[in-house]
Amino acid sequence: MNKKKCPYCNNSKCIKKGKRDGHQRWQCKNCKKKFQANKKALPTKEELFCLYTFSKQTLSELSQEYHLKTNTIQKLFDEIILPNKTHNPRTLSLAVDTTFFDDFAVVVFRD
Ligand SMILES: [Zn+2]
Repeated sequence: MNKKKCPYCNNSKCIKKGKRDGHQRWQCKNCKKKFQANKKALPTKEELFCLYTFSKQTLSELSQEYHLKTNTIQKLFDEIILPNKTHNPRTLSLAVDTTFFDDFAVVVFRD
């Protein structure tokens, strides 16, 4: 019994299906998709978006790392539904002070 898990449906019933460039290929008996043994599991589109947004990876870098076309990644990003930002206004007392120097100024806002 092999322990290889399908990166697409997480099924553990996978069979060896030849080699490509020296890497073992596998086929999932559930979804019939083929994948490479040592390939990183695909992150979810939300995880990809976090890498893109917060880890500042470019589409090109993500494309190389996960063997996806940049167009594919862009389409995944388009499918993500971001939650609406809610604003909760509050009252404040704002003090603003500006100090001018020769060619620039510093503005300080203080609540
Ligand atoms: Zn599968």
